[in-house]
Amino acid sequence: MTLAVKDNICTASLPTTCSSAMLAGYTSPFDATVVELLRDEGAQIIGKANCDEFGMGSLNVNSIHGPVVNPFQPTDAYDVPLMAHEPRSAGGSSGGSAASVAARLCTAALGTDTGGSVRLPASYCGVVGLKPSYGLISRWGVVSFADSLDCVGVLARSVDTVKEVFDVISVYDARDPTAASPELRKRASSTAEPCLPKLFSSNTLDGLRIGVPQEYFPLELEPSITSSLRTIIRNLKDAGATIRPVSLPATQYALSAYYVIASAEASSNLARFDGIQYGLRVPPPAGASRSKPSNVYAHSRSSGFGREVRKRILLGTYALTADAFDNYFLQAQRVRAYIKADFNRVFRHPCVHLAHPESCLSADGVDVLLHPSAIRTAPRLAEKRECDTSSIDEYLQDVMTVPASLAGLPALSVPAGLGEDGWPVGMSVVGQWGTDQLVLQVGRVIE
Ligand code: GLN
Repeated sequence: MTLAVKDNICTASLPTTCSSAMLAGYTSPFDATVVELLRDEGAQIIGKANCDEFGMGSLNVNSIHGPVVNPFQPTDAYDVPLMAHEPRSAGGSSGGSAASVAARLCTAALGTDTGGSVRLPASYCGVVGLKPSYGLISRWGVVSFADSLDCVGVLARSVDTVKEVFDVISVYDARDPTAASPELRKRASSTAEPCLPKLFSSNTLDGLRIGVPQEYFPLELEPSITSSLRTIIRNLKDAGATIRPVSLPATQYALSAYYVIASAEASSNLARFDGIQYGLRVPPPAGASRSKPSNVYAHSRSSGFGREVRKRILLGTYALTADAFDNYFLQAQRVRAYIKADFNRVFRHPCVHLAHPESCLSADGVDVLLHPSAIRTAPRLAEKRECDTSSIDEYLQDVMTVPASLAGLPALSVPAGLGEDGWPVGMSVVGQWGTDQLVLQVGRVIE
């Protein structure tokens, strides 16, 4: 199998730049665990994939390598390619991974997903993208952005190929301190997936309950995306599933909480790129004191990091200061707990992380959730105004994907037809922690 690997995952044979001037020309002395596992199984790593700098972005435009152009070719009513379309974003931050799969340069690709970076590009490029349960796949050798959220994910053109790669890399790794223990994995699969063998052999969804969260239909949602969802709901019902509406009330606070937590963690993780231990070193200009380390830090970091990364570091550092900590960082952590509690309330399967998982069991809960992966189809690259760093439009792209990230849940984006403009639409299946195989199986019926 040929694979592309996102440029924030370490490879000994190819550079790892995180699409940043800070790491230009850097080559890791070792392979990340995921790369090692895939090579051991005979996979061929064909290249490193462009991404938003250190994984920060939703459109893959924050990169020293330039933006990723979506390779999808819309066709007219007679299936003739419409050649003269304006270039669109491949989504981010794993835009290069999604584009290389969509353009058939490789069979599959590895990405990372902190708040949606595998699912959003998968949706925009018309491919399948899995963000697994947090902790199932080793992060050893993956450059940290926000380590309580970072997950390695898989992109491919079919759910079966995604599953094939996932099955190889989803193993316990003692080198990753946040890896889910073998016991926890066993508990999740024994308590949560008793229905799987039946589903796999029959390819029906008899007895499966699917929830549609009512909070996932914001005003910004394009109407054609709702029509795609309706079609899929009809197909799932035909396959034997029961569909019911559910409510996840804390969803409205997820985006704000995500950007506080992710920025705070990024400000801490990226402190290592100081021009001394790691990364680009830019000496201070003549006349400035060279002996003051802060001058080396300031010059190296100001030149090495792009605007978006610098903005996150400043926001995150602010959220962690004594004055702001309670109002921003702690408040965001409280919201995160509410979001997890919302999910635990609607799922039939228990959360194996809880001391008493059965305490939150709802007998009439659902097995998985279904919602659109994005509020729209791929935006035109020209829509992104380069110097407009105050706009939060780009952050809004993640409104559907961040709740599952904050709760550490498995989420799979599957192509779900085309929108009104002829560009791909994606639907997401989200499950309780550790039910990745169930999520994949439901995705297989949708695709
Ligand atoms: N767009 C989100 C961000 O910029 C998510 C990025 C990601 O998942 N790596 O933080």
